[in-house]
This record gives sequence, C-alpha cells and structure tokens, in this order.
Amino acid sequence: MSRLIIHKPQLSDKNDRLILKYVITVKDDSGIEKSGDLWFSFASKYRPFICDEVCDGVVVMLLRCCIIGGHDIESELPMTDRLYYEIVHQFLPQIVLQNPGAHQVKLMVNTVCPDWRPTAVATAMSCGIDSLTTYYEHTSDQIPENYRITHLTFFEQGAHHSGGGTTWAEQDKLFHAQLAKVKTFCETIQCELIDIQSNIAGKDGFVSNLLFYEYYETVHTYRNMGFVLLLQKLIKTYYYSATYYLDQLSYSLHADSSFYEKFLLPILSTQYTTFFSTNSFLTRLEKIKQLSSIPQTYDNVLVCYKEGYNCGTCKKCWRTMLEMEVLGVLDLYKGSFDVATFRDNYEYYLTKMLLMRRDEPLMEEIYKYMMTHEIKIPEKCFREAHRIERQRKWKKSRFRRLLSKLKRKIFTNQGPLRSQS
Ligand SMILES: [Zn+2]
Repeated sequence: MSRLIIHKPQLSDKNDRLILKYVITVKDDSGIEKSGDLWFSFASKYRPFICDEVCDGVVVMLLRCCIIGGHDIESELPMTDRLYYEIVHQFLPQIVLQNPGAHQVKLMVNTVCPDWRPTAVATAMSCGIDSLTTYYEHTSDQIPENYRITHLTFFEQGAHHSGGGTTWAEQDKLFHAQLAKVKTFCETIQCELIDIQSNIAGKDGFVSNLLFYEYYETVHTYRNMGFVLLLQKLIKTYYYSATYYLDQLSYSLHADSSFYEKFLLPILSTQYTTFFSTNSFLTRLEKIKQLSSIPQTYDNVLVCYKEGYNCGTCKKCWRTMLEMEVLGVLDLYKGSFDVATFRDNYEYYLTKMLLMRRDEPLMEEIYKYMMTHEIKIPEKCFREAHRIERQRKWKKSRFRRLLSKLKRKIFTNQGPLRSQS
C-alpha cells in the first residue's frame, strides 16, 4: 500500500514572517518516491503557539486525500492522543462504511498528551454574511464570557479560486486583496486577526507533483480545521459557520464537506481545541436581517468571490443585494455595494432568480419571501424566465435528437463491418 510520510518540519524567518515547512513524501507500492514541500507562513508573534512538535494539523488537512488516494500515513512527529483515537476508532470506520471503495487509512504515528493551556476563542472572518453573523452572535452578552470571540482568522486554504479557471498569481492577488479588506475591518472592531498563508491548495506544484487536486468544496472543513490545529496552544474554541441543516446530512466524500460537518467537527476536536458548527438555525435572510441592525457591518460586507471588493455582477454579489433589497435594507449597504447599478438592472436579476430558484435553495428562499410578503415581481420577468427556460429545453432536445441521429449513423456503419468479421 502507498504511504504518505510527514517529515519533521523546519521553522525559519522570512521577511517578518515565520515559515513552517514540512517535507511530504509519497512512496507507492513499487517503491517509487516523490517529495514536496508543504509550507505555512505566520506573523512572527505566533512563534510560541505553533504546534510544530505534533502532526495533527497536517494529518487533518491531508486526511481526505489519503482516504480517496489510498495512502496510509506515517509521521516522524507524534499526534495528540484524543485526535488519534477519534480519527482511527471513530471517523475512519464510519466514513469508509458510507463510501464504498474508500481506503481505511492506517495511521502510523506515536501519540502524546502535552500540557497545553490555550485561551483564545476564534472564528474565520471573510466579511461575508456567515462569518459576520457568527462574529456578532459570539461577541454578544448572550454568550458566556469564556465563549466570546477574542481572535479572527483568515487562511489561504484554497477558497480564493474565483470559481475556477484562474492562475495561482490571480488567486494570490485575490487572497491579498481580500485579506487587506478583512484587516481593515478587524482594526475597526479592534479584534486580533491571525492570517496564515500556505501552498496547501496546490501552488508551487505541491499538489500536482505529489497528490491530486481536491475541489475546495469537498475539503474545506479538513483544511480549515487543520490550520487551526497548527495553533492548538493558542486557540481553545473555534466556531465554523455552517452551510447546511442537520436534515441535509450526507456522508459522501465527493460532496461538499459541509454536509457531514456536524459529524466531522467533534471528531477533529482535540483536548485543547474544540470546534463548534454555528448559526445553522438561521436562514440566509434571517442572518442578513440580524446584521442590518449592526451599523459596523454597513460599509464592511464583502461577499464577492472574484474581487477584493464587491464587483456587483457575480452571483454572490447580486444575490446578496437582492436579498437585502427584498428585506428593505439595501440602502444601508451603499458603502459596500453599487446599489444604483443594481437597481438599474433589478428586473434582470429578478429574472435570473426565477430561473435559478428550482436548483438553488437560497434563490428559492428569496422567491418565497417575496411571495409571502407580497413583494411584486413584474409579469415581464416571469415571461422572460419562461421564454429562456423554453429555449434551453429546445436546445437540450435538439442536442438529444442530434446525438441519437449520430448514434444511429454509427450503428448503421458498424453493421456491415460486424457481419464481415
Ligand atoms: Zn462579485
């Protein structure tokens, strides 16, 4: 069986940052070895908190890849004992059972139980609707003091792919543009921001030379929690904003890892760092409604997945503006969005929402809200959506007709050949 080997890392200084670098080796059945560097970059002040003496974070980040790719894991570094127990005795037997063909990874590591006493409470901050909702909920008086957020995080874990098809240089540019925006917001609210940069998503050839590319949606929970586990000496509690409800639970390793997050997060928790899934009881519109009562959010929402500002035209931008518009709060967010241009194209976006609502729950939520609150959708939007729908169906059936014609032609041509043989 193929083995993925985690070697002891090196910690070095580079341009006011600390670089934690692991050499990862993959050794296949025939003894062929390939190695690559996996690195993480931190602000220098986090040196006392970096857990470079255990392999916890790296194992978690690469775990799904090893299950799918059929690698056992060997490490020169030990693993904290609760995490080892949870992965080997709780997670792997269950996830393999749910995913036929998946590999039950053997974890060849020693275990340890260090005396760490972390104190920070953190969550990811992207300035999107989910992270802002989690932040404001967990800094309110309703939350016990020990569970109130003290730090925010921003990780380079593969989320800045702009929907795919971009170069690493473009992804780097987007990461740094959004990081700058988040930094400004954290200064405004006076909350410490921990940013960690890395090549885990594949830049520098780390993935292409050694492993295989994993779609961000399938692996984000592993990567984000893995980053946090690099700082177990600092972070005692970490909130991760949920995307799906418990009634949508699904354990497919090829689907969005959010579907089985409620199962995964307690398993990836250690005796030092506890992960919680947050705000899954609120719908998207309820989250926006809540945020609209907090003036600090007005100029600081960033939902765009293409730019370091809200471009206004990508799906996340216009959908958020539409959500704010139907709730009657869009004018409050003029500092975050180009509201005038959106309103000039309001009917165009309504039509798009009508076209997408059957496949996308968040669009359906807008539609239902408009219906129940008697917010009028112009008749011509329905007509236009209907026309586009009909055109799509016609194109699909034309394509099917052409395909079956082609099949018949091939079959007819093959007939005599078969009879000759
Ligand atoms: Zn956008």
